[in-house]
Amino acid sequence: MKICRFDGGRVGCVDGDEVTDVTDCLKKLPSLSYPFPRHDLMIAELPNLLPAMHAAASSAPRLRLSEIKLELPVANPGKIVAAPVNYKKHLDEVREQADLHHGNEAHMRQIREIGLFLKATSSLIGPTEAVRIGMPDRRNDHEIELAVVIGKTAKNVSASDALNYVAGYSIAFDMTVRGPEDRSFRKSLDTYSVLGPWLVTADEIPDPGNLGFELKVNSETRQKANTQDLVLGVGELIEFASSFYTLHPGDLIFTGTPEGVGPVVAGDRMDATFDGIGAMSINVLG
Ligand code: MN
Repeated sequence: MKICRFDGGRVGCVDGDEVTDVTDCLKKLPSLSYPFPRHDLMIAELPNLLPAMHAAASSAPRLRLSEIKLELPVANPGKIVAAPVNYKKHLDEVREQADLHHGNEAHMRQIREIGLFLKATSSLIGPTEAVRIGMPDRRNDHEIELAVVIGKTAKNVSASDALNYVAGYSIAFDMTVRGPEDRSFRKSLDTYSVLGPWLVTADEIPDPGNLGFELKVNSETRQKANTQDLVLGVGELIEFASSFYTLHPGDLIFTGTPEGVGPVVAGDRMDATFDGIGAMSINVLG
C-alpha cells in the first residue's frame, strides 16, 4: 500500500492517480498526553491500522492526486540517520573531486570506517514544498537516495533480520552544501532533507536491493543507478545503525547517493523517479 499524508494532516491510500481518504482510521491511534513518545505514532501503529485502511479504501471518498497537496509522509521522525559515500562509483567520484572536499580524508574513507551521520529533523520538507538554497555563494548539490522508514524499535538487529523492522520506503533528497564543515552541519539547513511522495509499505518492496532510480535536473539526467550497487545494503545499514543508535518507529535512514551528484541553483527543478515507489518533482528556490 502507498500511504500519503495530505491537505493538513489527512491520510490517504494512493491508487494510480487517485487517493482514498482513510483519515478516519487514525481514530484508532492511542490518545496521548505530554510528554509525547520519541517515535512517530502512525508508523508505530501501522500494523494495527493497515487492515482498517485496506477495508476503508474501497468505500472511502476518492480524490484526484492532482487536486490535493501532499505532505511529508512521516509526520514526526525522531531522527534522520544518513549514510555517506555508500555507492562504489560515488566514492570514486568523491576521490576524483578531492579539491571540493578540502582534502578532508575522512570524507573519502569507506563507510564502515567513517560511520553514519545525523541530519536535523528541522531540515525535512514534503514532496510539494521547495528546497531553498541557504548558502548561494557555495556549491549546493542534489543527492537522490532510497529512504527507509523504520517500523519498530530496533537495537542490535542483525542484517538478516533487519527487513522485519522496516515500515516502508520513500524517495529522499539529501541536499548538501559543499565545504569544510561537518556533514551534519552542511546537510541540515532548512529544506535540505526531502521525503516523498508517499510511504510504500515494505510488503510491496520485498527486495530493496534491486531498485532502479533516476534524478533529472531541468530534464537532464544527473543521477541514474540501482540500489544493487549499494556498498552497505538496507539490511546491513540497519544492522550498522542499530549497533550504535536505538532506532524508533518513524526514524529515517537515508541510504546514500550514487555517482552523478552536481550543483543546483535557484530556478532549477529536480525530477526523481524510483522503481516501486513513484515520482517526485521538487523546485529549487533562492
Ligand atoms: Mn547523502
